Amino acid sequence: MKYETNNEIANTVRLKITIRKTIWFSILICLITEFFFFIAYRFVVQSLTDERLKEYIIQFIAKPTAINILIALIYHILEAIIKKESIKSLTMVTAISAICLNLTTTHYILPSLLTIFCFPIFITSMFAKKNLTNIVLFLSVIFYSATIYYAIYFSQDKLTFVNYYSDALVAFAVIIGSYLFTNVLIDYNVEYVFISKSSSLRQTEIIEQVKRDPLTNLYNKKIFYDSLLVAMKQCDRVCVAVIDIDNFKTVNDTYGHSVGDIVLVTLADMLKNISSKRILTARYGGEEFSVIFKDMTTFESYTIIENLRKEFSEVKFPQMNNKSVTFSCGLTGDYPNTLSNVEFFNEADQALYYAKSNGKNQTVIYTSLEKK
Ligand code: GH3
Ligand code: MG
Ligand code: MG
Repeated sequence: MKYETNNEIANTVRLKITIRKTIWFSILICLITEFFFFIAYRFVVQSLTDERLKEYIIQFIAKPTAINILIALIYHILEAIIKKESIKSLTMVTAISAICLNLTTTHYILPSLLTIFCFPIFITSMFAKKNLTNIVLFLSVIFYSATIYYAIYFSQDKLTFVNYYSDALVAFAVIIGSYLFTNVLIDYNVEYVFISKSSSLRQTEIIEQVKRDPLTNLYNKKIFYDSLLVAMKQCDRVCVAVIDIDNFKTVNDTYGHSVGDIVLVTLADMLKNISSKRILTARYGGEEFSVIFKDMTTFESYTIIENLRKEFSEVKFPQMNNKSVTFSCGLTGDYPNTLSNVEFFNEADQALYYAKSNGKNQTVIYTSLEKK
């Protein structure tokens, strides 16, 4: 969960950096375009007198650049104030659309430049929100119409189908095409995110399955030993218990394996009930289970196991004519640091052996065994 949250934060930060870069990149593109126009106008179209040159630079370079920078600054202020992510995204694409409008109205005599409204539409694919794309299309159409109105109003030459409207119409078709393409991109993006999310979920599930025993869903022997090693390194005290069901072969032989399985699952469920951050339970193999007690005294561990043993021995199995089953347990605790995890477990196993040979249905502590 923590990992996911960190990941989300990292994604949001990355997106913000991309957005900032995109805005400044748009302004740079505008500037380059304006310079390109200037050079074309200055050297190809006509040579300008000093007075007209000054006017051109103010009108076609300084003014639009100043407006663009102003738009970018307003966006940065709004971005800091606005809290809601969706409104932030809308502000950002509106800012880019406004920069485009600034460019199209500055060079209104060029109808092909109207295709620039594809740019903010494409950018919305980054957010994979169709609502946002629809809003930006709406904005683009308004800005597109505003540019044409501006051109009709300010153009000194008469705008005709040949010199203006045909190109404007093509630009409109390109804008609609970019909208449709962006929708396809969003669908693909959403599907891709869904697939990658579900496959990583499946991966986590498989990893979790490999750790567990399929019958009881308790951790398996490998996880038990790995966890024991970690606990022995990290905890001040560790206790280990090994539980073995008494006369289990007789249960199988008398009532069948499926009834034997019911007994195993019943004990496993009871072990799950005592599991916690400090108690790890596992199926060691067959009818044997193991428990790790972290930062608990031998007495505390012993009390928990003894309560479990009594509780289990009181369960009456209807499949066994209401007979009950018992288990024996070997427990070891406060391990000396020189032992390996296997050696430490073997102490519990020796205690279990003693419990078995001493009449079963009891818990034997390894330390008390040593004194005997
Ligand atoms: P003790 O009291 O000395 O522990 O005797 P026991 O009969 O419990 O021990 P033994 O080792 O003789 O028999 C264990 C039996 O557990 C043998 C095996 O068939 C059975 N067993 C192992 N795994 C499973 C399982 O998954 N399901 C069932 N039903 N039986 C299992
Ligand atoms: Mg056994
Ligand atoms: Mg047994």
